[in-house]
Amino acid sequence: YLSKPHQRYTGTITVAIRIKPITEMIPQWTAITQDKISHPDHGDFKFDQVFGPQCDNLNIFHQVGADLVDKLFDGFNATLIAYGMTGSGKTYTMLGEGINNNINNNIGIVELCGSYIFDKTQIDLDNKYNITVSYLEIYNEKIHDLLDVVKKNEDLKLRSDPAQVGGGIHVVGLTEKRCQDCNELMKWVKMGELSRKTGKTDYNTRSSRSHAIIQIKLITTDSFTGNIRSNILSLCDLAGSERATAQLERRKEGAYINKSLLALGTVISKLSVESNGKDNGNVGSSSVMGHIPYRDSKLTRLLQPSLSGNSIVTTICTIDPRREASAETINTLRFGSRAK
Ligand code: ADP
Ligand code: MG
Repeated sequence: YLSKPHQRYTGTITVAIRIKPITEMIPQWTAITQDKISHPDHGDFKFDQVFGPQCDNLNIFHQVGADLVDKLFDGFNATLIAYGMTGSGKTYTMLGEGINNNINNNIGIVELCGSYIFDKTQIDLDNKYNITVSYLEIYNEKIHDLLDVVKKNEDLKLRSDPAQVGGGIHVVGLTEKRCQDCNELMKWVKMGELSRKTGKTDYNTRSSRSHAIIQIKLITTDSFTGNIRSNILSLCDLAGSERATAQLERRKEGAYINKSLLALGTVISKLSVESNGKDNGNVGSSSVMGHIPYRDSKLTRLLQPSLSGNSIVTTICTIDPRREASAETINTLRFGSRAK
């Protein structure tokens, strides 16, 4: 079963760290190599890649984004997740700076992936492509459609539907906008962002508690055989990770819990144990690892087809190297090394 070509990629998780540039770097976070961060008290943390403060979004796209798009065209679902405390650079990484102010001089991974996708469709004469985008937010375990002013206030339901293209999970009624080019794609992304900003809750509070998920669906029709397949690139800007830390401590008091963030952490670390098992040729490992709790939250149910099976996942953990953020940074590094 290992000789099936796609099995090699199944459940593959890559973890990168991105260090936000600040004027006063504290020394322990600067002592890095390409794949390691060393801390005098906490030891070494190893990842697939560490992006130092000098890296820009374009570098990061070249190192981890382009590969996800290539895999999408190869027939996989691909997922990019930004994880980190509020203020550490998740949104900057995904959307760049000032996406709705037209000062977009540092465009984000979403647009860079989008433009690469359309470039690839243009040079491929063997297939016809249809591209759609959706943009939703998960807030307090409710799914809101950011591309529809009415449904934005509804809680959309998730339905499991094995016949559905893209792997079986379907958000009932979610808007999917057809895009002819990257400008059109970004028009919808900007609209979704505006819609998040004009919610009832103040944007900062909301963005620290909610998960924003852009899904680009690539429907490929083979020009000769007429075969159709559908693959999804999911781009996720998660709630601030300080929530996950705080809620682990406060859980007993019944305080506000971000179920989705906790569940995603669990799912990713279980998947990673499983795929490491496979790397070692330990075929039986999945039965040993047991069940992966996708059903524990809206986020993990929604992303299930994009995390498991025919999919590849890259997590960018963003860290803020200020001394005040140290405790949270350690938590993020632990999350990242557990996910690897
Ligand atoms: P998050 O989404 O994780 O809460 P943001 O992406 O909003 O954090 O970043 C917080 C602030 O830091 C923003 O003003 C953003 O422009 C800035 N920032 C974050 N990462 C970088 C970076 N790599 N380079 C320059 N500025 C950054
Ligand atoms: Mg943000």
